[in-house]
Amino acid sequence: MSASRTYKARGIVLRKTKLGEKDLIVTLLSEDGSLLRAVAKGARKPGGSLAARIDLFRVVDALLAKGRNLDVIAEAKLAADDDAVPFGLEQSACASVVAEIVCTVAQEGLEHPRLFAMTSTALSEIARSDARTALAVMTADLLKTLASEGFTPSFDTCVVCGKPVNAGNAGGSVAVSLEDGGVVCPLCQRPSDAVLVDAAVLAWAKVLLYTRFADVGGLEIDERTTFGVLHFARQWARVHAGKDLKSLDFVFTGGLF
Ligand SMILES: [Zn+2]
Repeated sequence: MSASRTYKARGIVLRKTKLGEKDLIVTLLSEDGSLLRAVAKGARKPGGSLAARIDLFRVVDALLAKGRNLDVIAEAKLAADDDAVPFGLEQSACASVVAEIVCTVAQEGLEHPRLFAMTSTALSEIARSDARTALAVMTADLLKTLASEGFTPSFDTCVVCGKPVNAGNAGGSVAVSLEDGGVVCPLCQRPSDAVLVDAAVLAWAKVLLYTRFADVGGLEIDERTTFGVLHFARQWARVHAGKDLKSLDFVFTGGLF
């Protein structure tokens, strides 16, 4: 193997899928925000040490060899700046959603500035948070990741005519056109594509989108409202990323939260 056919890469382990009897295909988010898929040969053999060093949701430094189709991970180790805080059950469920949205928006060979920093920060915040905060950080990450793709909801002004939309009394709801990209006033509202969203849920969606991950734990958002925002974020992802996030099924129905 000549030196020119090997290269080093740092990446977040997003997904591991079985390949044949003994191997794994590992999907990484590279530092430049592109996806990198590579084979970890023998990673599923009993006692294989490579698999143990390619843990899900961790940042790894890998040495790769160019392959004909997929590149091959020759060596991997936990990156020095990964704090290695273990993921609990609730935290893993949240991290799975973060990984799925990244796998959806990132592409092989396409740089995506900020995505690596955003994702690694969200994951390390989730690992060290309690279940309630981990849920809110994951919800914030969904909204931030979609916003980084250009899909930021219009929260306060009608997406059709631009007039301010008043959320009304506390406990009221606001019409949102998912396709058009945000709230719609009563005049522009078309029943066919508007969904009603609780005004408090929409207000919290905006707060979560614009709060730093490290500060999410300090927000006074209750779990019921977080689930409301998460439901909104799921619909938002379905329309704008074209993806129904399967990992959210477990979060909604797994009985963890
Ligand atoms: Zn309008």
